[in-house]
Amino acid sequence: MKKINIRNSSEEFIAGKIVCVGRNYEEHARELGHNEPDEFPIIFLKPASNIIFSGEKVVHPSYSNNLHYETELVLLIGETVKDAKDLDEAEKAIDGYGVGLDMTLRDIQNAAKDKGDPWTIAKCFDTAAVLSDFILKSEYRLTMNEVIRLKVNGEIRQNCSLNKMTHTPAQLVKYISSVMTLEKGDLIYTGTPAGVSRVVKGDKLEAEISLVAVLETEIT
Ligand code: ZN
Repeated sequence: MKKINIRNSSEEFIAGKIVCVGRNYEEHARELGHNEPDEFPIIFLKPASNIIFSGEKVVHPSYSNNLHYETELVLLIGETVKDAKDLDEAEKAIDGYGVGLDMTLRDIQNAAKDKGDPWTIAKCFDTAAVLSDFILKSEYRLTMNEVIRLKVNGEIRQNCSLNKMTHTPAQLVKYISSVMTLEKGDLIYTGTPAGVSRVVKGDKLEAEISLVAVLETEIT
């Protein structure tokens, strides 16, 4: 079990399932070769056992030569929600925000896409879900004008406003809850902006969402 770290609160959240959203920023979808917008968000899962926290290291799987970072706003679900009837109900289920890295084996993912296979071994290896501390909504209200940013070895690689997302946090929760029940402790990775690329052993990554959260990790 992985306990989520919450700033300025003793409320306990145990990480549940991790629902990840794909291609939620147009420019990133284009850099992966998808020019047509998706009608519904693309979703996939990671197990909670993949989680590591800021300060811990990402272990590069030996079966890939193309490990990518994807820096993402992560939503923390605070209550059970199933078939949210509107955006208000969906919004109420979100308790907090953090920043995360959805580590991805791009070579393995592309081979899976070509063969029509699931993305599991490209997305669900140990250490593939890096998480910051979270801030509760009662402490900070997201405006969507916050900037999400990633530096690799001190150099900016991703830098984008959250308002460039195709589907907003409430829209994502509403949609996901129409497919599967969301419960307290579940996490939603909301997709990454453009600028994804390869990292190798020894690289140092620093991610942040202005006013919300920061994290750092290293590839080993
Ligand atoms: Zn992602």
